[in-house]
Amino acid sequence: MSSKEVVRIEDRQDRWRYVCPCGHRSWEPTNHHFWCRHCAAREGVDGVFHELRDKKTGAHLARERVRLMTSIGPYDDIDEEGG
Ligand SMILES: [Zn+2]
Repeated sequence: MSSKEVVRIEDRQDRWRYVCPCGHRSWEPTNHHFWCRHCAAREGVDGVFHELRDKKTGAHLARERVRLMTSIGPYDDIDEEGG
């Protein structure tokens, strides 16, 4: 089992590092994927995406590979998905 990448969604440095596939920082997590405000503003695009881009390493991180942290604790309470 590989460990998850911790992304502090309210941290300025992490906001610069982790971006949507188009390189925007205006994304937000949803329950099962991510959503980018900037992408959603484009015509015909709903802004939903499934892999966060790590600008530092070039890696693409699926929603289940990242552990999202907020100022009040983990965004996801559970690590494993139920049936
Ligand atoms: Zn975007």
